[in-house]
Amino acid sequence: MLIVQKFGGTSVANLERIRAVGERVRKTKEEGHDVVVVLSAPAGETDQLLKLANEISESPDPRECDSLISLGEQKNIALLGLYLHSKQVPCISLTAAQIPILSNKDHGKARILHIVPDRIRKELKSGKIVILPGFQGITDEGDTTTLGRGGSDTSAVAFAAALKADLCEIYTDVDGVYTADPRVVENPKLLKKISYEEMMELADSGAKVLQTRSVEVAAKHRVPLKVRSSFNDKPGTEVVAENETLEKILVAGVTLNTQEAKVAIRRIPSEAGVLAKFFAPLAEAGINVDMIVENLSKDGTTDLAFTVSKEDLRKTLKLAEGVAKRLGAGKVEAASDIAKISIVGLGMRTHAGVAYQIFKILADLGVTVQMVSTSEIKVSLVVAIDDAKRAVKGLHQAFGLDRSE
Ligand code: ASP
Ligand code: MG
Repeated sequence: MLIVQKFGGTSVANLERIRAVGERVRKTKEEGHDVVVVLSAPAGETDQLLKLANEISESPDPRECDSLISLGEQKNIALLGLYLHSKQVPCISLTAAQIPILSNKDHGKARILHIVPDRIRKELKSGKIVILPGFQGITDEGDTTTLGRGGSDTSAVAFAAALKADLCEIYTDVDGVYTADPRVVENPKLLKKISYEEMMELADSGAKVLQTRSVEVAAKHRVPLKVRSSFNDKPGTEVVAENETLEKILVAGVTLNTQEAKVAIRRIPSEAGVLAKFFAPLAEAGINVDMIVENLSKDGTTDLAFTVSKEDLRKTLKLAEGVAKRLGAGKVEAASDIAKISIVGLGMRTHAGVAYQIFKILADLGVTVQMVSTSEIKVSLVVAIDDAKRAVKGLHQAFGLDRSE
């Protein structure tokens, strides 16, 4: 088999951990597999490099910044290479430029365009373990790019797709994908299997175990994916196509996202295109709007509420206030003391009344729902931040997700 093994920041945080990774990949190789290793930077290093960039410059030049923040990964692949060589294990590390892995020029959030597999294949064929950096790309002009925070997952899946690997294993510091964040819920279940689609929704709603984009790429190319711990030998969670999931459970998981803030504008004189007027300047400023609730009243005014990431709140308020003033709307209000809860499950497609069940559970808990949005397999709610943990626990339990000892 050709196996891609990706190790996240905590799994390669120091020399001791890198040695452990070395032993794991050596073992996989000795079992007779071809092995491609993809590494993250040591935990915290990318943050530190970013901090340096922001210390020396008020608005770091994106191209220079990528040259800097891609270094954590580069350091680690060389260190793993040094370790394996010292143990007489044939291996080679390759940077993005040496592979090459071509991306567009969108520094800081570049997209992979093409991976040239020839060099990797050649090295594998000569019996070497091939060690590659996550997070890094290179433009056709030879400039280094990075793929967005958490991007090493996407690198790994993209390598697996390009090489038509039999398996892509994502090694992390938890045992796999849980029905809820163990820091929020005391006894979540570890999922043996989950569908690409559910995993995508969970990742997108705040589950940090995989970058959303990596699941998208895995789903598109049908890359067999496994999430497991580098700290033990437990089997972890398999991310598979829908028809391969064992049982049709109603809800696969509940997530909590406390990174969003709510903006509300009341009494907007209604006219055609009024929503476009609010969202055009936000789109232009690159601000991602998540949930949107709009209500047109009989008196001809519209109330609008939406959420953005907390980071973007100040910029958003300024832009929204500008539009509100021009249109003669009421005050623009902001709230950061909110949380978004998402309930995800393929079963929602075929079971009616899941939204009702959710509202009933929350009503019994005395939790007020401020906003709602739904998709085919997800219901997202905004609640007060003080109610959030209680609500997640209550939903998790009511949908039968608590682990029974
Ligand atoms: N080192 C990068 C980050 O911290 C990429 C990754 O680890 O996935 O975002
Ligand atoms: Mg990660």
